[in-house]
Amino acid sequence: MWRCGGRVPFFLRRLSGGASPQARRRRATTACERARQHEVGEQIHGFTVSQVTAIPELSLTAVKLSHDSTGAKYLHLAREDTNNLFSVQFRTTPMDSTGVPHVLEHTVLCGSRRYPCRDPFFKMLNRSLSTFMNAFTASDYTLYPFSTQNPKDFQNLLSVYLDAAFFPCLRELDFWQEGWRLEHENPKDPQTPLTFKGVVFNEMKGVFTDNERIFSQHLQNRLLPDHTYSVISGGHPLCIPDLTWEQLKQFHATHYHPSNARFFTYGNFPLEQHLKQIHDEALSKFEKIEPNTAVPAQKPWDKPREFHVTCGPDSLAAGSSKQTTVGVSFLLPDITDTFEAFTLNLLSSLLIGGPNSPFYKALIESGLGTDFSPDVGYNGYTREAYFSVGLQGIAEQDSQAVRDIIDRTIKEVIEKGFEEDRIEALLHKIEIQMKHQSVSFGLALTSYIASCWNHDGDPVELLKLGSQVARFRQCLKENPQFLQEKVKQYFKNNPHKLTLSMTPDDKYPEKQAQMETEKLKQKVNSLSPKEKQQIYEKGLELQTQQSRPQDASCLPALKVSDIERTVPLTELEVALAAGETPVQYCAQPTNGVVYFRAFASLHTLPEELRPYVPLFCSVLTKLGCGLMDYREQAQQIELKTGGMAATPHVLPDDTHLDTYEQGVLFSSFCLDRNLPDMMHLWSEIFNSPRFEEEEHFRVLVKMSAQELSNGIPDSGHLYASVRASRTLTPAGDLQETFSGMDQVRLMKRIADMTDIRPVLRKLPRIQKHVLHCGNMRCSMNAAPQQMSLAEKAVEKFIRNLGQSKTERKPVRPSVVEKPAPSGSSGSTHLSGPQVIRKLITDPTFKPCQMKTHFLLPFPVNYVGECIRTAPYADPDHASLKILARLMTAKFLHIEIREKGGAYGGGAKLSRDGVFTLYSYRDPRSTETLQSFSKAVDWVKAGRFTEQDIDEAKLSVFSVVDAPVAPSDRGLDHFLCGLSDEMKQAHREQLFAVSREDLIHVSNKYVPHGLVARPRPAVVARAPAVGHSADLSPPAFQVPRPWAEHTWPGSAWTGERRDRQGPVVGSQIARNSASAREYS
Ligand SMILES: [Zn+2]
Repeated sequence: MWRCGGRVPFFLRRLSGGASPQARRRRATTACERARQHEVGEQIHGFTVSQVTAIPELSLTAVKLSHDSTGAKYLHLAREDTNNLFSVQFRTTPMDSTGVPHVLEHTVLCGSRRYPCRDPFFKMLNRSLSTFMNAFTASDYTLYPFSTQNPKDFQNLLSVYLDAAFFPCLRELDFWQEGWRLEHENPKDPQTPLTFKGVVFNEMKGVFTDNERIFSQHLQNRLLPDHTYSVISGGHPLCIPDLTWEQLKQFHATHYHPSNARFFTYGNFPLEQHLKQIHDEALSKFEKIEPNTAVPAQKPWDKPREFHVTCGPDSLAAGSSKQTTVGVSFLLPDITDTFEAFTLNLLSSLLIGGPNSPFYKALIESGLGTDFSPDVGYNGYTREAYFSVGLQGIAEQDSQAVRDIIDRTIKEVIEKGFEEDRIEALLHKIEIQMKHQSVSFGLALTSYIASCWNHDGDPVELLKLGSQVARFRQCLKENPQFLQEKVKQYFKNNPHKLTLSMTPDDKYPEKQAQMETEKLKQKVNSLSPKEKQQIYEKGLELQTQQSRPQDASCLPALKVSDIERTVPLTELEVALAAGETPVQYCAQPTNGVVYFRAFASLHTLPEELRPYVPLFCSVLTKLGCGLMDYREQAQQIELKTGGMAATPHVLPDDTHLDTYEQGVLFSSFCLDRNLPDMMHLWSEIFNSPRFEEEEHFRVLVKMSAQELSNGIPDSGHLYASVRASRTLTPAGDLQETFSGMDQVRLMKRIADMTDIRPVLRKLPRIQKHVLHCGNMRCSMNAAPQQMSLAEKAVEKFIRNLGQSKTERKPVRPSVVEKPAPSGSSGSTHLSGPQVIRKLITDPTFKPCQMKTHFLLPFPVNYVGECIRTAPYADPDHASLKILARLMTAKFLHIEIREKGGAYGGGAKLSRDGVFTLYSYRDPRSTETLQSFSKAVDWVKAGRFTEQDIDEAKLSVFSVVDAPVAPSDRGLDHFLCGLSDEMKQAHREQLFAVSREDLIHVSNKYVPHGLVARPRPAVVARAPAVGHSADLSPPAFQVPRPWAEHTWPGSAWTGERRDRQGPVVGSQIARNSASAREYS
């Protein structure tokens, strides 16, 4: 749990005088206090302290050190946070596109000197309570982070990570498996043709199906052409087969050395212990070298350049003539100049963020395109930063018009400057993001400083956001033209300017495939008969190795007995506002921030309006309200809140699969002082939303349709799974309507309509069913001392709301009233009256089997297969949860990733009782369906050990016990009526799962031979395309409108277990993925 650090009782400080640093540290009570007692020049376990700095705005103390004999750099950030994080970062600067750093990142995780078993990284997922484990390859560094709340686990993981990074085996067969190889289509049959296989090879083929990625990659390569940024660090599918095993080993020797490493630790565990372990287990075994990895400065151009590239057609807009993207980018100064970088980042947000920004007005509202071009705004991931702006979804002939608008807008900004209110809103945003407590703060910090530190910038300076804000204000005060001068310098008078355009080529996928065939032919033709024989034998050897039973006993492990037996209780109080609307209050250390949520049940909504609910939600807070037009409203939201959002939800019932609640969740947060303003904004939105701005509505529709369609290559395995569950439960059916392929198609259709008014007219009709307090409940998470103010604010909000004039009849088959657990039901930590949830049930629903195949122009597949099982409260649910993990770790991972060459695959059980088997970035599909079927046979035959079951339990509990931010505590109770007692009961069921239970549930729910002889009614499958890194289906993703920024203090968009995708960061004002990270 997080406690507000920093303040230490006065007497403790007095006591500490005079003693040795070690003695004082022993007496210090908080992590920050302990860290502050280190002294510059102090030597600890081979390291020397070079700087100790308190950073009060982030409640942390930074200790900078360097390792004496190797020169390794070290930064420790002490903070009262139990979710401790470690990362080691190497500067990796490839000079070709063979993907050597990326293949290396995968291969070092395949076994090391002390842990020679196969794939210790994946095995540790089952032997640890880690809250995060992953590895990333960026353009110029490779980062290995993990986090955990358990001290023993920290040591275990640190040991495995250090050994992997510094002493990997790098066996040839590991390189074959993870990188690329030639292998017979059927490895056992030398008569079948040779083909390219390998995890990274397929991963990168998947990456380059994404047109936004293609654009971003070209942009960076062309704008910074002199050195490492001109190549693709992840690897180009056509270049990866040029990489040799020797080159891989050489790259490791020169780059993964302590002299080229940066170590980072974060949290409340003591620093000394980390230093000792890192020194003893790794650094003491090395001598200093001069790593030749620095990236030289890019030589500035004397005149602008232009490039044109092609991509595949938009799979959902075939035939549309508006598929061109054009972007203009400018080179900016070195990111190690932290204040200049801070200023330009802010400036970029002023230029492109939100409907009041000049580029939004000029470009987005021009109607020429659908959305900004990829990587719009400030990009600080390379040694020199760059700014990019442009449009996608335009007609090819409008390219010049877009470029003219960009030039004109820059000129206008230089003349007019920015409104003071917008600057204030942005500084407010930084303030609130520094205060917001996220559960992955350590991860956010390591990623925030990675690029700057990588080029020897000062990470501590970068973290002093408070002083940067102060200096920024001072600059503005001294020179009101401060920002305009920057625009002039970096945009108007900057000859290092790139115009990049991209148009689709209908033949693009065929051409790519043809080039791959050529490459393959060339490789195969150059082989001697002897080499062919070797390839055949090695293929067999790899298969044998993959099929051999694995011994992981060399790896450290936690035990099931290390898991907490009980769930921590969350104190909740429920009270009625205005006499009828239930409000849940949860007092938490929220650090000066208030979190408000409201859930409106939708059980009266007519059937034909349901598909439009997501659209209603996405525009509700963006069209204006009361006397404010959409611009004024956006301004107020930025000035007074950290974000306001509405999202459609399908909430499963914990006892019946055919019962669920549908509704809309409204969520927002603000600084304590702004609560009345935020609630006033909600009142205006609820009472008088404006649904008449037709032009702006069109703009929003186009943007969101574009976003959905761009997301398919990246989230398709979710689309496949959602589709597959559609005919299994009524909730699954609704989920498909809200967030499946049906929704994507609907949005695309609306975006193409010439007359959009009929759609706009549906919104007030939905409003009548949602925006009143008839079927609503609210929640507030705030500091205890804020609660009485919070209560008053929500009371006023409810009183101001219009009552639903007429009692609306439910239109769905039948509505069941279900009381949520409350104080009266005997709970010790819940008090107040009972909340009644109105659930929808459909007794006529008949689950049935369905198969769907979406044909999309991607060279890799994504498969989802769903099975209807048991609801949350059923003891079988717990068994199935363990079963899913067991099947993933012990069978599916081996079959689908290791042998099949897919990026990943596995099984999961969602809280709605749907059991899903899936694969992503998969070169195969029918074989994968057969693997699903074999997995079932494997479980039924009971070919797993007690140890396997314990490991699956550890892995499940590391997810169940993932830390919850103060903003989100009590949320399960608020949304789904889950009390701590129910969670405890489920926990005990998880502990109790036995071998017999696992076999029992697999016999009971999972039919034999999923593919060969599908039984009626329970199985649906949908091979489709796409891939998602997030394992939780949309039904359980709690929207966090505030989780979309890269400033420290904000959360990441998601934590991902297993290696399923890069952590997606984003720019300050818009959620645009960082495009060049691979994991
Ligand atoms: Zn990868």
